[in-house]
Amino acid sequence: MRIRATVLREPRQPLVIEEVELAPPRDDEVLVRVAAAGVCHSDVRLADGELGAGRWPMVMGHEGAGVVEAVGSAVSHVAPGDHVGFCIVPACRACSECSAGRFHLCLPAGEHGPRGVLMDGTSRLSRADGTVLQHALMTACFAEYAVVAGATAVPLPRELPLWQASLLGCGVVTAFGAVRNAARVAAGESAAVIGCGGVGLQVVAALRLAGAYPIVAVDLDPTKLDLALARGATDAVQSGSATTAARVIRTTGHGADHAFEVVGRPDTMRLAWDCLRPGGTAVVVGLAPQGVEVALPAIEFLADKGIRGSYYGSGDAASDLPRLAELALSGELDLASVVTSVEPLEAVDDALDRLRRGEGARTVLVLDSELAGHV
Ligand SMILES: [Zn+2]
Ligand SMILES: [Zn+2]
Repeated sequence: MRIRATVLREPRQPLVIEEVELAPPRDDEVLVRVAAAGVCHSDVRLADGELGAGRWPMVMGHEGAGVVEAVGSAVSHVAPGDHVGFCIVPACRACSECSAGRFHLCLPAGEHGPRGVLMDGTSRLSRADGTVLQHALMTACFAEYAVVAGATAVPLPRELPLWQASLLGCGVVTAFGAVRNAARVAAGESAAVIGCGGVGLQVVAALRLAGAYPIVAVDLDPTKLDLALARGATDAVQSGSATTAARVIRTTGHGADHAFEVVGRPDTMRLAWDCLRPGGTAVVVGLAPQGVEVALPAIEFLADKGIRGSYYGSGDAASDLPRLAELALSGELDLASVVTSVEPLEAVDDALDRLRRGEGARTVLVLDSELAGHV
């Protein structure tokens, strides 16, 4: 079929909305009519060529939700008409990582995702002239339709409006998993959140639900600190000066039990480290450009401090998505309040520019306002 899709032709150039060819789903794949898609900071990294060469031409978009239009012959967990959110790591559930319960590190998914292909190693996207187009993170949902691996299409309750459901599959699952699976935050533990954009605000929400106290939001931008306070942060520290870490340490007593870096820069990773109490652990959620290194004062390993990464929630995203959707329906998780712009697909470059300037939280691109439930 022929669809409208947002194509990255060359890095650091505006994206182009093109008519492209989408091949039908194979046996274990699903065709989804996209309702809405979130714009994530990883989209900026891809669009700016910061994740390495060879990742274009590509149909962009990896955080989204829609309605199943057709399924391959081997798919039984969803049927046409079902609402689904996209899970960017369609775990095979058979490799050694999946067998050990580390579904986010699934080996075939990890091999094919960065190559811009689906689980069988090929793409369903092309131009009329035959040029093959990559799928962004196995999803490619800045488009009217997407063909995805069966495991990428996760069924969600239809009561949740799709413009809100669109956020679950990257920002929300990444943030909640960092708190629950990577840091395993317990009630009463203190936490600092460095960077309060779309994902950082979800980290704050997850910390509130985990009973963390105090929850110190840290950002350069006072308006993001206000958003964080509204979502459950107990304190706010404006960053950008030499005293930032000292102020966080004072607010938490003698340093945070947990510090979450949600920016992807070496200076903020170092700041997360500096905010820790002896014995505390920093979790790096932010995605840094390829080649960036971070320096730490090595003597402080003696203070039993730790630092670790977290990818895509460090757990089983496909099982977490429906649970997070239920949490949203129960009113415990407010998805709408991280959305600072709702725009048509054509506005995607403006959304990327706002992220480059560090402005606002999440933008949701609406492909079909009736389907998305946002009129
Ligand atoms: Zn993302
Ligand atoms: Zn696997």
